[in-house]
Amino acid sequence: AEDHDLDEPEARHRWTELAEAIRDHQFAYYVRDAPTVSDAEYDGLLRRLEALEEHYAHLGLRTPDSPTQLVGGTFSTEFAAVDHVERMLSLDNAFSAEDVAAWDARVHKDLDGAADGLQYLCELKIDGLAIALLYERGRLVRAATRGDGRTGEDVTLNVRTIEGVPHVLAGEDHPELIEVRGEVFLPVEGFAALNEAQVAAGKAPFANPRNSAAGSLRQKDPRVTASRPLRMYCHGVGALRWEGREAATARQSETYELLAGWGLPVSPYTRVVADQAGVQAMIDHYGEHRHDVEHEIDGIVVKVDQTALQRRLGATSRAPRWAIAYKYPPEEVNTRLLDIRVNV
Ligand code: NAD
Repeated sequence: AEDHDLDEPEARHRWTELAEAIRDHQFAYYVRDAPTVSDAEYDGLLRRLEALEEHYAHLGLRTPDSPTQLVGGTFSTEFAAVDHVERMLSLDNAFSAEDVAAWDARVHKDLDGAADGLQYLCELKIDGLAIALLYERGRLVRAATRGDGRTGEDVTLNVRTIEGVPHVLAGEDHPELIEVRGEVFLPVEGFAALNEAQVAAGKAPFANPRNSAAGSLRQKDPRVTASRPLRMYCHGVGALRWEGREAATARQSETYELLAGWGLPVSPYTRVVADQAGVQAMIDHYGEHRHDVEHEIDGIVVKVDQTALQRRLGATSRAPRWAIAYKYPPEEVNTRLLDIRVNV
């Protein structure tokens, strides 16, 4: 409501101000791995921009290059740019049970009678950074960050140092080409140890596990990356060329079993549920057990499990319609970071 009574030049001016602030924060976050505002503040700016575009719809502020319409990344020229075979998207957010229920209703409406047997795949939202691994005939040929969704940074040598990421897939039966997407993260213990070492070396500690994972992966010297205890869990597949084997990936949950069979790391925490009540049970459970997991989580990602239904639902320019990220409310203080400061 704060931007509701502006005249046209004022509304345009406010839009430019907000969009510029958001782009600056994106640069600090995605390129420098050193955010200057909290995620909650950043999300607030983005929602304010969305509300402005909505309220002044007649001014056409919602252009295709608005931060509300783009995957929020950018890439650094320190790395070679690589184009993803298939675009990597972001996720729409839900902040309450009502938001999730509204999304569930929307999915049923869009599927319009084809929702029979619909199941949801619930996953932990890992607080790390997205990565795409390209395997050709079973060999890891390239790894790239998400970047702006179309173009990412080539971090192949660095990703090759991550424990658990196979350079060659196990077994014999592999696709011609598969783009495996996942999240690279620092387990909580590794994050705490890394920050202690940073502080001991007189360097600024990382703001959160996500930034520490990104900072560790996006190193010019792969030996530095190798010294950091990074891990990865797969959470999707982009391009796939596998003649005659399409049926093997009819469900995303089945695809994970395939990936696991090839030696790729998949999360042990995923659950397939039948309805919104099942989704809510997962949200409630991990709301209570958020810190019983080896990595930080900032929410639960809910996906339509059947890939045919995913294709039917499609995507916007920014995010798939067949998935949503429920975000837990931000925690009061980062006690781990605090402990370290106290110890100095
Ligand atoms: P997002 O983090 O809300 O959701 C999309 C991402 O979730 C995916 O790209 C993927 O990397 C990740 N993810 C984790 N677990 C997943 C799973 N199981 N399945 C699928 N995806 C999974 O959106 P975003 O566009 O990556 O970034 C926005 C986030 O970054 C927000 O939390 C925002 O606050 C933060 N941010 C903060 C600043 C800042 O200045 N503080 C700046 C930019 C972005």
